[in-house]
Amino acid sequence: MKNMAAVVHHTLTPGGVELREHPVPEIGPDDVLLAVRGVSVCGSDVHQYHNSHSWRVNVPVVLGHEFGGEIARAGREVSAFREGDRVVSETAAVICGTCAYCRSGEYNLCPKRMGFGYGVDGAMAQYVKVAARCLHRLPKSVTFERASLTEPCCVAYNACVVKSRIRPGDTVVVFGPGPIGLLCLQMAKLCGPGRLAMVGVEADRERLEVAKKLGADAAIAGDPMTWIRETGDGLGADVVIDAAGVSQTLRASLDVVRPGGQITKVGWGPQPLGFSLDPLVQKAVTLTGSFSHTYKTWEAVLALLENGAMNLDSIVGAVEPLEKWQSAFDAMYSRQVIKAVLTPLQ
Ligand SMILES: [Zn+2]
Ligand SMILES: [Zn+2]
Repeated sequence: MKNMAAVVHHTLTPGGVELREHPVPEIGPDDVLLAVRGVSVCGSDVHQYHNSHSWRVNVPVVLGHEFGGEIARAGREVSAFREGDRVVSETAAVICGTCAYCRSGEYNLCPKRMGFGYGVDGAMAQYVKVAARCLHRLPKSVTFERASLTEPCCVAYNACVVKSRIRPGDTVVVFGPGPIGLLCLQMAKLCGPGRLAMVGVEADRERLEVAKKLGADAAIAGDPMTWIRETGDGLGADVVIDAAGVSQTLRASLDVVRPGGQITKVGWGPQPLGFSLDPLVQKAVTLTGSFSHTYKTWEAVLALLENGAMNLDSIVGAVEPLEKWQSAFDAMYSRQVIKAVLTPLQ
């Protein structure tokens, strides 16, 4: 069996990740073997590297779930794609295909769902095995570097467009100017809000500048309540997107949301809340969780990438060969770059 280079999460200890030789995957009749051309580093990859993740990881596993590439080989039952096609892949690597969610198109919620990079081998490698049902054709004008950000753009689209309802003229607040937050800002902008604020902490100063460049009317380090009181009728935001995830942010979200408004939580945080949810009741707020994405979201996002509606240049701070995975991870961890992309095959 042939080997390839892969970034493997091998043990559940801090630093339990290394670049090593790994067998080239065997594919089944419904799979393709994808030659990976671009894989972006997710905060979750960095968490797994530091062993600070809060989800089950099937070690050893190849990291990476945000990727695109060229089909090197197609299984014999695959009819919609062929060798040489440029594609991106969804993240639900394994689903049962028969539960109520799978059968009704919400396969992102399948109880048996397993994603690339923690459940099954991901794309920080020269090759990855992908079920053909996960694939989408990549428009010619979209480079593989940009294509590797399709997945986080889909996360933002699901949160801002599918799970939230932003009407033209609305006041929108996004918490957390990380990669997902900055992409949520851009998705929210595409919905035509009247006013939009990005909120972060002191350490986010540089990212808040990026938020301004991306069209935020206000970029606030700390408490957004002054801005809220001075904005519109002063009663609060119609829609709040929580892309930070810590408990404190949900508390702040409940402060800034207007009565009858909506909070969509896309950021994760394993800590318990530690405060009362009474304002949720009193303000009759709709609190919605947003997880992953499905087919139509991918097609919509690819159309947006094709027509240049998303500014990804201000998000991608480094493009490195696979061998430089560690410095790419470190640069994201230390906030030197917002997002790094690895290019396994040149
Ligand atoms: Zn991700
Ligand atoms: Zn299912």
